[in-house]
Amino acid sequence: MSNVLVINAGSSSLKYQLVDPETGEASAKGLIERVGTDKGHLKHESGDRKDERDVEVPHHSAAVTVMQDAMERGGTPLTPDSVIAVGHRVVHGGRNFTEPTLIDDGVESEIDRVAVLAPLHNPAGLAGIRSARKAFPDLPHVAVFDTAFFSELPAAAATYAIDRDLAREHAIRRYGFHGTSHEYVSQQVSSLLGRDDLKQIVLHLGNGASISAVDSGRAVETSMGLTPLEGLVMGTRSGDLDPGILLHLSRVADLDAQGLDDLLNKKSGIYGLGGHRDFRDLAQAKDDGDEAATLAFDVYVHRLVKYVGAYAAVLGGLDAITFTAGVGENSPTIRAAALEQLGFLGVRLDEQKNSSRDGGARRIDDGAGRVAVLVVPTNEEWAIARHAAEVAVR
Ligand code: ADP
Repeated sequence: MSNVLVINAGSSSLKYQLVDPETGEASAKGLIERVGTDKGHLKHESGDRKDERDVEVPHHSAAVTVMQDAMERGGTPLTPDSVIAVGHRVVHGGRNFTEPTLIDDGVESEIDRVAVLAPLHNPAGLAGIRSARKAFPDLPHVAVFDTAFFSELPAAAATYAIDRDLAREHAIRRYGFHGTSHEYVSQQVSSLLGRDDLKQIVLHLGNGASISAVDSGRAVETSMGLTPLEGLVMGTRSGDLDPGILLHLSRVADLDAQGLDDLLNKKSGIYGLGGHRDFRDLAQAKDDGDEAATLAFDVYVHRLVKYVGAYAAVLGGLDAITFTAGVGENSPTIRAAALEQLGFLGVRLDEQKNSSRDGGARRIDDGAGRVAVLVVPTNEEWAIARHAAEVAVR
């Protein structure tokens, strides 16, 4: 067996999967929550064997030990015979990490240095890497960056129109996020439609949400920027704003950098507008006639439509639109609402296919339009496992 252990360390969680990089099959997976406390919680599955219990996880190292123990108890022990590499999800790769990278001490320090650009995310990723390298010193560890797929965005798309020298000094540019998902999904679409030369738009709609334009496999635009705040309306994040709002609020509402960070990351989006951060709750409130929820839904959809139109123009045409992640994969309502106004682009939804509960990758257009519409479940763990296996055997 040659599996890859995929680790996704968040600030208070550790998600992991043991994945066959050839097939994507996960022989074991788990989630440890409330890392950083002695009241952590483990949910683990090794095939049919389930293991759920409270655990003490004062730091990420303890969480890695809990994971090792759960794997052992589940009959999928992590040994050099069964695992060929460890793949780590790292949110921000900065300017220098443009592809999956074998981790050594130098790479660790560079990820640390980039943390200034992603203070909410990179420190956790790094804690996961350090703990796992200690636990599995003989295995190759590979960092897979959320920004890498967008590292070759055309300069016109990657550049903010601010003072050039200041931007250079502070590495301010558009980096993009969810890249592993956008890359994986756009590749799936190419193989499903049997063409490499597609002009595609991918909508990754989860708690975080982003949209990308991909031309013949290469990302040419994406909605997230220096940070994962820009672009679409999200669960609790605002997406695009007039930057003047920040200046204004700092003057009239006495909000400092931390206050604005909280507002834009935690108290905005559909939650700020409609009072619900989970899309299912928002949709239910809208159906119950709640006005705030209805406006939140409409703002969310309006932003999507605006971006799809803009990206079709950037691409100079459109062959496929694909929905992925929690909302994109599971909400026929959002898909229909977003596409309703796009008939002029040649988008024609098949209502029955759109509402089918089939969970797999599939087309949901009626076959008579110019644009294929698809739902493709994202699988970032498999994508990370493939990248890690490739780098490890190099
Ligand atoms: P994350 O960004 O945390 O990875 P996910 O991709 O898991 O997020 O997406 C989470 C979102 O998906 C939540 O807002 C949730 O409400 C939404 N979601 C999950 N299932 C459904 C569903 N059946 N209908 C609508 N939304 C759903």
